[in-house]
Amino acid sequence: MEKKHKRSICWLRRDLRVSDNAALYHATQDSEEVFLIFVFDKNILDKLPDSKDKRITFIWQCLEDINETISSLGSRMFTFYGTPTELIPQLVDDLGIEAIYFNRDYEPYAINRDKQVTESLRGKNIAVHSFKDMVIFEGAEVLKDDGSPYTVYTPYSKKWKSRFSSQNVECYVPNLKTLAKENKYPNCNPVILNDIGFKLEDIIFPGGEFQAKQKLHDFYDSIDSYHENRDFPFLNGTSGLSVHFRFGTISIREAIRFIYDKPMNRGREIWLNEIIWREFYQSILYHFPYVERESFKKEYKTLDWPGEMDHFHLWCRGETGYPIVDAAMRCLNSTGWMHNRLRMIAASFLVKDLLIDWRLGERYFAEKLLDYDLASNNGGWQWCASTGVDAQPYFRIFNPYLQSKKFDPEGEFIKKWCPELSGYNSKWIHTPHLATSLEMNFSQCVVGKDYPLPVVEHAKQKDLVLKLFRG
Ligand SMILES: Cc1cc2nc3c(=O)[nH]c(=O)nc-3n(C[C@H](O)[C@H](O)[C@H](O)COP(=O)(O)OP(=O)(O)OC[C@H]3O[C@@H](n4cnc5c(N)ncnc54)[C@H](O)[C@@H]3O)c2cc1C
Repeated sequence: MEKKHKRSICWLRRDLRVSDNAALYHATQDSEEVFLIFVFDKNILDKLPDSKDKRITFIWQCLEDINETISSLGSRMFTFYGTPTELIPQLVDDLGIEAIYFNRDYEPYAINRDKQVTESLRGKNIAVHSFKDMVIFEGAEVLKDDGSPYTVYTPYSKKWKSRFSSQNVECYVPNLKTLAKENKYPNCNPVILNDIGFKLEDIIFPGGEFQAKQKLHDFYDSIDSYHENRDFPFLNGTSGLSVHFRFGTISIREAIRFIYDKPMNRGREIWLNEIIWREFYQSILYHFPYVERESFKKEYKTLDWPGEMDHFHLWCRGETGYPIVDAAMRCLNSTGWMHNRLRMIAASFLVKDLLIDWRLGERYFAEKLLDYDLASNNGGWQWCASTGVDAQPYFRIFNPYLQSKKFDPEGEFIKKWCPELSGYNSKWIHTPHLATSLEMNFSQCVVGKDYPLPVVEHAKQKDLVLKLFRG
């Protein structure tokens, strides 16, 4: 059968895999030859303050992984550094390309970038094909009966589930034999990280499709008890797949096929719900792009947060005197990772105890998180700050001490990241400042000297934040 296009480009962005990839599948079906490309986007990289940004290492490893897979076919990934809106039209001219394929991304920057690239290519009579790939349902596919978007999770998830069928998780198997051979673009030198101002770093979740599949496989034994273990940071109770979902090293369809691999049970159902949270936040960002900068709830747009910058810096460094918060922040700073329960505790503490604008915390997480995703991060922060799409009103305030006792009862996680507190037993580990001086000396950590005193008093701050919200 004659193919539609002689030469095409498949542009990978946050879908860094070759298996079960919708755009790549269609590109290789429709074209005689497909150039697989990735652009290190200058617009994004220029905004990263840290040359040791772990996400760049992750991306790099993913590209290496793809290269390894396709090199046995004589092909390779073609990598570039620049601004996609300029670079891609140029590439299309240089290579005599007839069509471009990519998977859709719903962040405001990406939507605008893709719109510009599309307009410029259509002006040259180049076909542009975009596909749904990173979600099961896009923003416009799960709507209320009156056509408006959901703003509460539970009804959204019900509609999501009622729409779902096995057809939504069909596997897209690309024909990799059609990928352009290495020698088809000999003067395209692969991007070297040092040349673009970044360094390779050690990362706790290595990049690549193989690693993602391995992680999913490792989760096989844990998914059935996910509902029991997922809230305890010292347990390995969650999948650890968020970075792979973020960069598309695993297909979301594959993850859902994995859930339905065995009969549904509580663990599988709750894990599916988390994946639906991810789609819910994607949908919120798509329908209400202003949330990127402002509160979702209009009444809180102008809240004047009275918190102090000194406290913000203590929070960032993990020196607030609240062990669970400090352990969480030190873990983030060191690894680029934080457990979901801790994200909720740390975010709630910044906003409702330190009375600091959620946007500062959101930005800090955006800089540090390996799995940083605008929609989920913004959604999570606004949920914790009570400014977002939460059905609960502002007076849901986490008590950091109770959270700590409940979810890290023996202080195992705390001791890992705040080793100076290792001598405290489970009675005092959550509130070492309340221990007697005898106990402090016995524990070899005097609060106020070896570990900070609490920067604020939770009970007082609770009253202040309630007043702030009431106006
Ligand atoms: C303040 C705050 C900030 C957050 N920032 C991010 C972020 O930048 N990127 C990110 O991927 N997640 C974010 N989350 C959601 C959640 O914390 C992580 O997805 C989760 O910790 C990842 O661990 P896991 O892969 O082991 O998750 P699992 O528990 O195994 O869950 C499976 C998948 O479901 C999705 N998921 C789980 N919980 C949530 C949630 N609450 N909201 C949206 N999706 C979810 C993730 O894709 C995750 O990989 C944030 C949550 C909060 C409270």
